[in-house]
Amino acid sequence: MKTIGYAALSPSTPLAPFTFERRALRANDVAMEILYCGVCHSDLHTARNDWGWTQYPAVPGHEIVGRVTHVGPDVTRFRVGDAVAVGCLVDSCQECDHCHQGEEQFCTNGRTDTYNAPDRITGENTYGGYAKHLVVREEFVLRVPDTLTLAHVAPLLCAGITTYSPLRTWNVGPGSRVGVIGLGGLGHMAVKLAAGLGADVTVMSRTNSKEADALSLGADRLLVSSDSAAMAAAQSHFDLIIDTVPVKHDVNPYMSLLKVDGTLVLVGQVGPLAEPTTVPLILGRRRIAGSLIGGIRETQEMLDFCAKKQILPDCEMIRMDQINEAFERMEHADVRYRFVIDMASLPAPSAQ
Ligand code: NAP
Ligand code: ZN
Repeated sequence: MKTIGYAALSPSTPLAPFTFERRALRANDVAMEILYCGVCHSDLHTARNDWGWTQYPAVPGHEIVGRVTHVGPDVTRFRVGDAVAVGCLVDSCQECDHCHQGEEQFCTNGRTDTYNAPDRITGENTYGGYAKHLVVREEFVLRVPDTLTLAHVAPLLCAGITTYSPLRTWNVGPGSRVGVIGLGGLGHMAVKLAAGLGADVTVMSRTNSKEADALSLGADRLLVSSDSAAMAAAQSHFDLIIDTVPVKHDVNPYMSLLKVDGTLVLVGQVGPLAEPTTVPLILGRRRIAGSLIGGIRETQEMLDFCAKKQILPDCEMIRMDQINEAFERMEHADVRYRFVIDMASLPAPSAQ
């Protein structure tokens, strides 16, 4: 199937229109027209080759909402016309212990990311959701609950699950105290989801410019991370801190804010950290951990939880041709709080 998207052709050039083929439907595949795609900071890291493993052309996008247009003969759970979603994963072995436990992101034989990864069967580079159409095997397609507004669902597929998963792993609930470092796409979902789970939530931001937003998103307070007196007053306060900062930074000022046995969980994919010291770790049996998106079962659980609680991201809708400006704004933390591309703005290949 011929389709059109936007691709990065090199680390230093703007994304540009790119026509390509989606694979012919395999027996267990679902084909969809993409309606909306969220813009994650990982898309920007990939387009710019920040992690050193980008294959060009690169079509980013892993917060995808669409409508089913075709299904393969073995597909049982979806029909033409269904509202569906796809996140960061499109395949895994389905046979290892992690896949059996519903944690395909840790597949022993290698998960397949929605973009910039080799297809398990053909080895071709996967292309993501900055496009008009997508073909994905049934097991990696999520059902969008009817009560969620479709145009706002997309960011749940990465920002939502990436913050929901650590909240569930560390058993956050009423009485938990959660801190969120960085109020961007992931950060604002962490606030909404932690508040939805009943936790007391503190945003830690570099300035107080997002204070009113933090409170209206459901946080109980905003702590300015550069205010050393306020940071000192928050010592030994948190059970869990989710760190969403997308660049190399110093985690030491946050460690002593954790209670005994508290955990700082990093989700920002930043490579080396500035030197962490052992002192607060040892004195409070504190931990630094990481977390990677979430499995398909947990992603569906998160979508159903959001439907039940009516939790939706705050989205700024853009046209596909505004993506380069959106990247630039995201780089300067100027997004409130997730860009979502309306794919109706991208003409189908036949109309060109
Ligand atoms: P984002 O929307 O750009 O938000 C990042 C926030 O971090 C900003 O709003 C800002 O908050 C803060 N920040 C930005 N630059 C900073 C700097 N130089 N120093 C300190 N704080 C800074 O990004 P995102 O989409 O939420 O993604 C965040 C990170 O998570 C990225 O690295 C992304 O690749 C990664 N990620 C990981 C996973 C996973 O599975 N682990 C999944 C998705 C994304 P304030 O203005 O409030 O300070
Ligand atoms: Zn993402």
